[in-house]
Amino acid sequence: MKVETFFKLTYGLYILSSNDGEHKTGHVSNTVFQITADPPMIAVATHKKNLTSEYIRKSGFFSISVLQQDVDLEFISPWGYKSGRDIDKFEHAGFKTGSTGVPIVLDNSIAWFECKVEVIHEIGTHILFVGRVLDGEIINDHALPLTYAHYRDVIKGISPENSPTYISKEKKPDEKVVEKSAEPDSTEPAGLQKYKCTVCGYIYDPVEGDPPAGIAPGTAFEDIPDNWTCPICGVTKEDFVLLD
Ligand code: FE
Repeated sequence: MKVETFFKLTYGLYILSSNDGEHKTGHVSNTVFQITADPPMIAVATHKKNLTSEYIRKSGFFSISVLQQDVDLEFISPWGYKSGRDIDKFEHAGFKTGSTGVPIVLDNSIAWFECKVEVIHEIGTHILFVGRVLDGEIINDHALPLTYAHYRDVIKGISPENSPTYISKEKKPDEKVVEKSAEPDSTEPAGLQKYKCTVCGYIYDPVEGDPPAGIAPGTAFEDIPDNWTCPICGVTKEDFVLLD
């Protein structure tokens, strides 16, 4: 079966958050869906290794923020490619604390839900949490919700490794791994080609460079030092591919 077949499934994109009584964390999720209207029940699937899973189990509560379509990759990335064990993801995001104590992300969100866990079901690598909706609110009734198709096709984002929709590098279609000795086959002049991070979707544009990392505008990808890392997810140059 072609892996692209899975691309025909549609999803939204959300930030799933929880806390352990002391710390808070969250991550981007595409597997959020309403199960019943009465009582209002929503299910979420999350990887067993995610800190958010641990916190949901511990607290028994979670929140869901519905991301808006015009959110940028820079806002989403820490929620998908960094662990709450390493950074405070809420440091640069507007949020509030719900009545159950869970954090609720408000930035770049059009609505939110606060839920109490009623069913936990383990499925291989993931856990399905089914929660009763205790509260919810529309924040922005005019912006469109972000869909996974828009994230993948327009924002050029990629599912992180713990996502249910993650596709391993070996299975990815239409991408060429950069070989140091390979000649670029694009008609672009050498040095002006863009490269894409296969882990997070970040695109290195030589016209812009990466000034915060000391890479001046006009620096070709090939001329970036080997110890440079993706500013979004932290992988090395070896995980970048030439952008067609
Ligand atoms: Fe990256």
